[in-house]
Amino acid sequence: MFQNLQDKLDRAFKVLKGQGNITEINVAETMKEIRKALLDADVNYKTAKAFTDEVKQKALGQNVLTSISPGQLLTKIMNDELTALMGGSATDLDLSKNPTVILIAGLNGAGKTTFSGKLAKYLKEKRGRKPLLVAGDVYRPAAIDQLEVLAQQVDVPVYTNRESKDPIGIAQAGVTEAKQKGYNVVIVDTAGRLAIDEALMNEISAVKDATQPHEILFVVDAMTGQDAVNTAKAFNDRLDFTGAVLTKLDGDTRGGAALSIKSVVNKPIKFIGTGEKMDALDVFHPDRMASRILGMGDVVSLVERAQQQFDEKEAAELQRKIRKNKFDFNDFKNQIQQIKKMGNMKDLMGMIPGVGKAIKDVDIDDDAFKPIEAIINSMTPYERENPDAIDQKRRARIAKGSGTDLVEVNKLMKQFGDMRKVMKQMSNPAAMARMMRGAP
Ligand code: GDP
Repeated sequence: MFQNLQDKLDRAFKVLKGQGNITEINVAETMKEIRKALLDADVNYKTAKAFTDEVKQKALGQNVLTSISPGQLLTKIMNDELTALMGGSATDLDLSKNPTVILIAGLNGAGKTTFSGKLAKYLKEKRGRKPLLVAGDVYRPAAIDQLEVLAQQVDVPVYTNRESKDPIGIAQAGVTEAKQKGYNVVIVDTAGRLAIDEALMNEISAVKDATQPHEILFVVDAMTGQDAVNTAKAFNDRLDFTGAVLTKLDGDTRGGAALSIKSVVNKPIKFIGTGEKMDALDVFHPDRMASRILGMGDVVSLVERAQQQFDEKEAAELQRKIRKNKFDFNDFKNQIQQIKKMGNMKDLMGMIPGVGKAIKDVDIDDDAFKPIEAIINSMTPYERENPDAIDQKRRARIAKGSGTDLVEVNKLMKQFGDMRKVMKQMSNPAAMARMMRGAP
């Protein structure tokens, strides 16, 4: 995410490196580089200009304290200004009505249907709501199928009417159904078009008038850069939406859309999509995003994601097993699955300060766990529970069954053994203290 922009900003900051002072000249030079970096990232020209003017003014107005370098000071100013540019603080959904109607709008392929499913899951699991999905794309039967599949995945009901070709009627019927059955949020997925056209705008405006939504979320593909901002403007002119959703931020986006939308249409970004899976949705936090763009990492989001996957009861049980040296291959496999659930490995690691830059050219294979899982899958339940019983004969059978080889199985067994030892030591404070002192 934002790798290019990060690199270029880094280079811009270098101008100030080693300079003791912020002067009119070195700031002007740095700002030129920063402006170039922003334009390359597809940030709107006016936005980029206003932004660098503001940063420059702030930088020149500050005395550099001896304890920080001009580069550090500029990073801080940039961080504050990027945060402000993207809206300051996170903007929550208005969920106060019963039912709250949320209309989802955007072009074809932007990720509306995927987002509808993710939003339903988020509202149900994180916000304790009872959502109903409504399939309002009457033109593509496949769209209804897709929403039904997603609805099933996230275990949320969906209202459909395959006979009707009237999106307004369907949306209204969906809201009525929610009222009758006690759903407190209605998420209406609407039809998109390949490009903005009058018919689409008229139709969605009519759905808006008929359902009086409390939230209108405009979904846009972040990979489309400047186009995303233009589309946002066109939709906002007609719909006056309440928030934007940027999808596909997991891809190789240049980031311009995230940086320009707020200042161009003056509407907050409320969510970002970071993958195709139903839990790849994050509430948009401008401050965290700014830190990520500046390569400062996003530890808060990382911790939150880990917490979401973390079950306290399970953790206590795991600790008990580790203490008793009973940590086995079932637990190991569970741990791998938990890590995988947290999302794309490279994205996750990029949230750790300093790591994003270091791994940008490294290909981190999300399938790295595959051979390990295959090996564990080829073990019998007895073997998984009793790793010590896995002798050479069993290892040979496991290697064959998993399509790996003996070397790989031996390697895993060794790693597992080492891991178990370390875990056991860490769970014992006295042993830990001995270890830290360097004692055996
Ligand atoms: P719609 O036409 O607006 O309803 O778009 P869809 O929801 O069908 O999404 C279009 C494609 O984009 C699908 O292949 C989705 O899996 C994919 N997609 C949606 N959101 C994301 C995202 O956040 N990240 C990635 N990588 N793919 C996404």
